[in-house]
Amino acid sequence: MTTQFEPVIGLEIHLQLKTKSKLFCACPSGMPDEAAPNSAVCPVCTAQPGSLPVLNKGAVELAVKAALALNLNINKVSIFDRKNYFYPDLPKGYQITQLFKPISDNGYLEINGRKIAIARAHMEEDAGKSVHRADATLIDLNRAGTPLLEIVTEPQINGADEAYNFLTRLKSNMQWVNASNCDMEKGELRVDVNISLRPAGTTTLGTKVEIKNLNSFKAVRDAINIEIGRQTDMLNNGEKIKQETLLFNKETGATVPMRSKEDAVDYRYFPDPDLKPLLLDDKWLEDMKNLRPEMPEAREARFIKDFALPQYDAGVLTSRREISEYFEEVLKTGAQPKSAANWILTDLLGALNAAKKDIEQSPVKAAALGKIINFCDNGKISRAQAKKVFEAAWQTGKEPETLIKEMGLEQVSDAGQLETWAKEAIAENPKMAADVRSGNAKAVGALIGSVMKKSKGKANPGLLNEIFNKLLG
Ligand SMILES: [Zn+2]
Repeated sequence: MTTQFEPVIGLEIHLQLKTKSKLFCACPSGMPDEAAPNSAVCPVCTAQPGSLPVLNKGAVELAVKAALALNLNINKVSIFDRKNYFYPDLPKGYQITQLFKPISDNGYLEINGRKIAIARAHMEEDAGKSVHRADATLIDLNRAGTPLLEIVTEPQINGADEAYNFLTRLKSNMQWVNASNCDMEKGELRVDVNISLRPAGTTTLGTKVEIKNLNSFKAVRDAINIEIGRQTDMLNNGEKIKQETLLFNKETGATVPMRSKEDAVDYRYFPDPDLKPLLLDDKWLEDMKNLRPEMPEAREARFIKDFALPQYDAGVLTSRREISEYFEEVLKTGAQPKSAANWILTDLLGALNAAKKDIEQSPVKAAALGKIINFCDNGKISRAQAKKVFEAAWQTGKEPETLIKEMGLEQVSDAGQLETWAKEAIAENPKMAADVRSGNAKAVGALIGSVMKKSKGKANPGLLNEIFNKLLG
């Protein structure tokens, strides 16, 4: 007989904070991989005798911004600890982190109506990098001392898809408040997963296994699914799960042991005597809370409620903060929300995708797109003409009204001119006119077509329809 098991999953996320300099020295942070090795180092981040760390205020600011965007409680007092272990790319022989009193705790993210609790988010420094060659291992300390925020969830995630959705929301929120670029290929966002199974409906936690080396959200999802399968088979065969750390092999799609936790190292944590406790000023913290922007969930809900947008439109518009701001700029021109959403979702994002540009780099600014939408919705130009104006504005950066003149696109809505053309068309096509008079409403299309031809496409077809109905009614 097989038992039904449910997975219990927790995530540990290392986020690289987007500061100019490192956490405890003035060396530049976030050097690209191709930078010359050890070109961004100083006595502090290479642990020379007598050097002392100085906390980077900018990193604290970003950590607090990030924590607020994860609904975490900010601790006014937090303490930096030393985590002692030996590794060649860790020159001090310890990593500065926060174990006992982290800068923030007790937060959550809501995923499809379910709150996933976040136990804590603490600040720490990154280690350097070992470069393994056939004949030697080389050390590059450019990354040593880079500020990180480690975010730890409670074990409350109940499947691979929920983990995937949680990470997507987390990344979007972190980019939203500009705390991190979250580029996984550059190691700016790294994820470890711990996972255990228990018989469905029970509450005791099973033995957990940790999976490291997951460099995309897809890898996280795949690794969780594979691990659920592996543990289910073992438990059903009466085998015991060993507490261990696994690596996920993307190529083979298997999880392989990295090290057993039975010989786990004792890190001998203790408060770093070189760093005073971090005390956050009340006024400063209040200002930070007031600066917290409207977050994507709230903005999406507002777009749906205030502008009657479909959920899909609101979701895409709030997928990045800059897109949502662009949309609101377009609305300032008086454009209808649904028209603005349509233009942004199809024409603008389509063009940006094709050109591999972000919306901040769009050659058509929000004010210009707003004008194009208004000209189109007010009947000055047709939808097809508006598309041409948009393309020309994209190429030249010129104002829409200038382009409409230059391209001779202005739609003719003048009733007198339209009526003259309509009368000419009736005179030239007596058979069509007779058809309409005898009740064949469809024949009016042919008459409109002949005026469109006569006017080189500039006549307003909606108004023409009314005029023909009046003349032939
Ligand atoms: Zn340094």
